[in-house]
Amino acid sequence: MRIILPNNAKKILDTMHQAGYEAYVVGGCVRDAMLGREPGDWDITTNAVPADIKKLFGRTIDTGIEHGTVTVMFGKEGYEVTTYRVDGKYEDNRHPSEVTFTKSLVEDMKRRDFTINAMAYNEEEGLIDKFGGIEDLEQKVIRCVGEPRERFSEDALRIMRAIRFAAQLGYSIEDETKAAIKELAPTLEKISAERIQVELVKLLVSDHPDMIRLAYELGITKVILPEFDECMKTEQNNVHHAFSVGEHIIQSMLNIRPDKVLRLTMLLHDIGKPQVLSVDDKGTSHFYGHQITSVEVARDVFRRLKFDRKTMDQVCNLIRYHDERFPAKESNVRRAINRVGAEDFPLLMEVREADTLAQSDYQRDDKLKLIEDTKKIYEEIIARKDCVTLSDLKVNGKDLIEKGITPGKQIGSVLNAMLMDVLDNPEHNSREYLLEPERLRDKYLGMGEKEDNCEKN
Ligand code: ATP
Ligand code: MG
Repeated sequence: MRIILPNNAKKILDTMHQAGYEAYVVGGCVRDAMLGREPGDWDITTNAVPADIKKLFGRTIDTGIEHGTVTVMFGKEGYEVTTYRVDGKYEDNRHPSEVTFTKSLVEDMKRRDFTINAMAYNEEEGLIDKFGGIEDLEQKVIRCVGEPRERFSEDALRIMRAIRFAAQLGYSIEDETKAAIKELAPTLEKISAERIQVELVKLLVSDHPDMIRLAYELGITKVILPEFDECMKTEQNNVHHAFSVGEHIIQSMLNIRPDKVLRLTMLLHDIGKPQVLSVDDKGTSHFYGHQITSVEVARDVFRRLKFDRKTMDQVCNLIRYHDERFPAKESNVRRAINRVGAEDFPLLMEVREADTLAQSDYQRDDKLKLIEDTKKIYEEIIARKDCVTLSDLKVNGKDLIEKGITPGKQIGSVLNAMLMDVLDNPEHNSREYLLEPERLRDKYLGMGEKEDNCEKN
C-alpha cells in the first residue's frame, strides 16, 4: 500500500526521521488518500514535542501549543504537526479538561473518532491500521474507535461528524455506533452553534444530502433543526405533491447541485409550511403564504446557527421568490429580474426546477416548460443587456435635479416610474425619451404617485 505524499509533507517526515523522531501523516488525509480523494490538508503526528518540532523547521506557527500542535510553513502552505497525545477527562461533552502527551502512536490513535480516521502512514512502515480502518473503508461503514457510547459522551460533536462522513462518503453507520448516536443525540445541545453549522453545511453540500433523513431518525435534527422534524411530520395532501414536506425537501436537495446557498435554500424553502397548513372541506392541504413564513423561520434558523449575514440574506431572497410564477413574457422576466436581483435570478431558476422535480408529476411538463421558457428569455435579456435595474437606466437623480425636480423623495419615485416603463419597453431607455419635458411632467411625475404597480401577468 503506497500513498503519494506531497513533497513538503515528505520533507517534514524525512527531517523528523533523520533527527530520530517518529512521524506519520495521519487521520483524514490517510483516509482520503486510500479512497483516491484529494485530501484537504495533510496532518502529521509525531512523538516529538512542540519545542523539538520548532527547532527542526525554519518557519513555524504556534497553532495550539497547549494541544501539542505546531504549524510548519512552506511558503503559504502550512502543515499541522501534532505531538502524540491522549485527551484527559472530558467536561460537558465538549472539550477535554487537559491533554497529555504520550510516547505511543497507538495511544494517539485511540483518541480519534472513527476507525477510518485512525490510520497513520509513512514510507518506511507503510500503513498503520490498528482498529480495522481499512476493513471499514472496504465495508463502507462509520464505526467508532472503542466504545461508541463513551466516545460520543466525551465529545458530542462526533455525532455530527459521524453523520456528515456518512453523507460525504455514502457510508452507513455501524449498528452500535448508530445506537449510541440515538441515545446521546440530545447532548448535541451542548455543542456550539458554529461547530454544528460547519458540520451541517458539509452534510448538505455532500453527495448524500438525503442523509439528513437518518439525522432525523436518530434524533439529531430534533436538537439542531427541530423545524425540519415538523416538516417530516407534515403530509401534503394535494395534487402537486407526492411526499410529506420533509421528504419533498430531501428530494429537492437531491435535485440541485452541491452549492452551499442552493442546498440551504432547498433545505429551508418550505420550512414554514407546517405553520400555515390548512385543510379544506375536501381534505386538501393548503399552505397559503408559506414563502413568507418560510423566510421568517429560515431567519430564526440562520440566527440560531450563527450563519453569516450574506448567506442568510441570499438564501432568504431565494426562498421568498421560490414559488412565484408568471407567464414567460419578456417584460415579466425583466420585472422579475429587477425584483429578485440579477445575481440571484439564475439561481432562482435552478431552485424552481429542483422544487418542481421533487413534486408529483401533476402538470410537471408544463411547470418545467415554463421554467425553460423563462430561462431562455432571461438569457436573451442578459445577452442584450436590457435595462433591469435603476443603475442601468440612462437617466440618474442628478439629471432630474437639473431638470428642476426638487431633490428628495420625488426623485426616487420618478426614477422608479421610468424604470417600470423601461422594463416594459426597453426602447424607452434613452435620455431623449425619458427627459423629454412633457413626458417627464405628465407621465413620470404623474405616474410617480402610484409607483410599484408590478402587474404579474
Ligand atoms: P475533513 O478535514 O475532511 O473534514 P478530517 O477527518 O480530516 O475530515 P479534521 O477535523 O481535519 O477531520 O480532523 C483530523 C483528524 O483528527 C480526524 O481524521 C480524526 O482522526 C481527528 N479528529 C478530529 N476531530 C475529532 C473529534 N472531534 N474527536 C476525535 N478525533 C477527532
Ligand atoms: Mg482534515
